[in-house]
Amino acid sequence: MLKILGKIGLLVPALAVGAVWLVVLRLKGVPVPLLVTYGLLLAGSVVGLLWPGVLGRRATRGRVLAFLGVPVGLGTLGLYLAVVYYVTDLPVLLALAAAACLTWTAALFLRVRRAAGDRGARQTRRAFLAGGAGLALGVLSGLSVDQVERRRREVLARGEQERQAAVRAPGGRRRIAGGAVRVFPIHTGDTVVTYGQFYGGLDGWEGLNGYVRTLVGKAQITVPVHAYLIDHPRHGLMLVDTGVNWEQARDHDGYYDMTSRLLTERDEYRMSPGQDLRVQLARLGYDAKEISTVFLTHVHDDHAGGLRYLPQATVVMDRRDWEHGVLYPYSFALVKDNLSFPAFDSGAFGAFPASQDHFGDGSVILLPTPGHSPGHMCVLLRLDAGSVLFMGDTLYTLPHLAVDQVRQMTIGGADTIHQMEAARRIQNLLASDPRIVPLFAHDNTRYHSDLVASAFAQGVLDEDGVRELRTHMEAVLTPDWRLRPGHTPRFVPPASGTGLGSVDFR
Ligand SMILES: [Zn+2]
Repeated sequence: MLKILGKIGLLVPALAVGAVWLVVLRLKGVPVPLLVTYGLLLAGSVVGLLWPGVLGRRATRGRVLAFLGVPVGLGTLGLYLAVVYYVTDLPVLLALAAAACLTWTAALFLRVRRAAGDRGARQTRRAFLAGGAGLALGVLSGLSVDQVERRRREVLARGEQERQAAVRAPGGRRRIAGGAVRVFPIHTGDTVVTYGQFYGGLDGWEGLNGYVRTLVGKAQITVPVHAYLIDHPRHGLMLVDTGVNWEQARDHDGYYDMTSRLLTERDEYRMSPGQDLRVQLARLGYDAKEISTVFLTHVHDDHAGGLRYLPQATVVMDRRDWEHGVLYPYSFALVKDNLSFPAFDSGAFGAFPASQDHFGDGSVILLPTPGHSPGHMCVLLRLDAGSVLFMGDTLYTLPHLAVDQVRQMTIGGADTIHQMEAARRIQNLLASDPRIVPLFAHDNTRYHSDLVASAFAQGVLDEDGVRELRTHMEAVLTPDWRLRPGHTPRFVPPASGTGLGSVDFR
């Protein structure tokens, strides 16, 4: 009985690791039939190792295990090299092979001591061969570190040249000093997401269908990543989120560690030299070194990446996000001592039970909106003509305000409940004041590309701008937050059958 329980105790984690590995491979685009075959062989080998009896008579067991195990071993190596392999892994792989050879050498020497005569001599020869191979692989590992590092530095140096050229290109603007609060949307590249994760997180059958389609169909799209610069006459230069950084987008292999690389796509982020945060600030007449405050809506990497260029800034974020843990600590390395956690003790704000009046003058109000992450917050900025509400990832796009029809995927449980609460509070806030304008981090509709871009072209939102943005909002959404015809997102598969799809609004 205990023996059976022990084996089940081994089987469950083995199958769990196997399942995670299969999901990783699926996310990396391995076709489903291949994964099913590989998964069955994998499960068969694990069960066969734990319960050899199921493989038939004793005489044939070894052969059956080899029949299952050899394709699994070769398949694992092949799949790793084909879809997960990174050049930066080469030194690690060589070092692992070296360690295996040296372990084998040690084992052989232990046996030599017991064996005598001819057999002993044979074992000694083998041990020397294995030891030599181990040493050679170790040396190769060391040399490859150097090569890989040199290649990385070349790519980064080329990027630096491209960015310098983008800063100097014609069309940059002079900074306009004084007067009104200015807000500049900053498009820091694009990110690849699955359509279901972005739009399909609904309840019931539609939601389930979204999950399955995401995993099996792997319907992918790209969406923009927006950060926002605020030039405030009293409070200086501030950012709401910081977007993606150059290394994340263009030096993926070197930037992420091995585990992170397993879970992210190499081309997860796309960025042209002109989209780099430092380049865009320079072209607006500012310098990244002047930013005094960053309001970080949440810790995710497409919002925190730019922190790498802002070591002097105070980073205001919800303590719960920081304590819950940062998946990619690299972005925070330079600012982890400059964090400031709001107490959210300024009382209720509209439908929000808690808020933080950050400067004490009503100019910036922080609103807790957990759900997308445990400590997500939205930021309300007061302007002369009205206010802007920075959504972060609580609602990705304007159509996401219709939360019953369009919704991002959440983990479920309390996260989903909080997310829905936050969305309703935002709906309430927007309905209560026609002078509040929402600004999104990933809006891929005409709302951002045409209306927001032109309303904020000079940085100052005037009354006409507020009216135009709200009129567009009313043309997309009914007063009870449903989408009007012509605005429901649909996935459009890629024309060639492979690659990225797009979104059509109908
Ligand atoms: Zn995001």
